[in-house]
Amino acid sequence: MRKLNLIAAVFCNLFFSQCKNTQNTAAMAAHKDNPYYSRTDTNHIQVSNAEWKKILPKDVYGIAREKGTEWAFTGKYYKTDTKGTYFCAVCGNELFKSDAKFASSCGWPSFYEAIRPTSVRYIDDTSHGMRRTEVVCGRCDSHLGHIFDDGPAPTHQRFCMNSAVLEFEPDVK
Ligand code: FE
Repeated sequence: MRKLNLIAAVFCNLFFSQCKNTQNTAAMAAHKDNPYYSRTDTNHIQVSNAEWKKILPKDVYGIAREKGTEWAFTGKYYKTDTKGTYFCAVCGNELFKSDAKFASSCGWPSFYEAIRPTSVRYIDDTSHGMRRTEVVCGRCDSHLGHIFDDGPAPTHQRFCMNSAVLEFEPDVK
């Protein structure tokens, strides 16, 4: 019986790692014109805005590199509740798990924690006459949104993100 369990575990591991590889390959193919895109490399990258402008779609560039904000209730992920992972749409960095996503009335996808402490970085933002904390991608420094302290337990934080700079990958079933 133990042998059977072991065989089943090995089979499952092989199957799911193969599915993950397939997802990774599909993501890489979708970003074939972006040489900086990687779902496995977490090293910091420094790329000029002039370079990003040549690579990124206009809506992604406007938010990620010019600190834009999409209109509330318009982004593709604000209502998404499927299980999976959210990656940086600019560089492929893993940012959030769906487990940390919560239904917020603000109109933007909201999370109570990042996938790893180093997935994101925080910058004081005093623009538009407000005092806020900007959240940027920990790998490529792209603007993702802002963080507020009115989120749910356990962190009571609300990462208020722009859908356009996120890329969602559903879990393998
Ligand atoms: Fe990034």
